[in-house]
Amino acid sequence: MKKILILLCPLMLVGCGALSSLNQEKLLSAGTNIATSLSITDAQVAQMCSEYMVYQDSLNTIAADNSPYAVRLNKLVKNIKGAENLNLNFKVYQTDEVNAFACGDGSIRVYSGLMDAMTDEEVFAVIGHEIGHLKHADTKNMMKQAYQTAALKDAIGAISPTLEKLTQSQLAAIAVAYGEAQFSQKQEFAADEEAFNICVANDYSPYAMYNSLNKLIQMAGSSSSSTVSKVTQMFSTHPDSATRAARVKEMADKYVANQK
Ligand SMILES: [Zn+2]
Repeated sequence: MKKILILLCPLMLVGCGALSSLNQEKLLSAGTNIATSLSITDAQVAQMCSEYMVYQDSLNTIAADNSPYAVRLNKLVKNIKGAENLNLNFKVYQTDEVNAFACGDGSIRVYSGLMDAMTDEEVFAVIGHEIGHLKHADTKNMMKQAYQTAALKDAIGAISPTLEKLTQSQLAAIAVAYGEAQFSQKQEFAADEEAFNICVANDYSPYAMYNSLNKLIQMAGSSSSSTVSKVTQMFSTHPDSATRAARVKEMADKYVANQK
């Protein structure tokens, strides 16, 4: 993700410089690109997600299949209930950052920093949350939005709207937009609810999602700046953690009360 953030600066500079010299031709080009990007199909978005994941995987260090991280993750997601038909694939990115994300093609990537910080059930809850985003098509919609944003910026530069095969520069522009995008509070609540349901369905604690959110909140409030910086990205893409924690605790309390 750090590499993506670095890419942000040159793109912004290109944007600012070109805005001052907008002309009729560029405005027409912008209109064409936006119209084209608005008309992309679900299949094209799915293809874009696959290409985006090949790109992301190439930028990150992936834990080998026999590494302790990959072995732990595969054990956690083996025979997972409640995620049928999603065509899931998992990989661990080796980085100190505490993060995880899903992409519309069924890819879920968990950062080793998150695995170091969290217990098995907390990691599982985060995976359940990402599955929630996949089930609700949040990630596909975000990819579509990222493409539209990149196309809009391209109004300014030279990204072709054709979707036959994305170039590295198109993928980089989409990665920037995808990295800056945020899910809505409503989407986060729904994904948390899915995480709660998946945890319960797989015999994990109903408080697993609550515990993982609490851990993130504690890390973000740490007096150690290096700890805080590890969770910065996760917080920027997953806001409202305290509200969400309170909400999933309420859900777990109700579930436990009903069990009695
Ligand atoms: Zn989320």
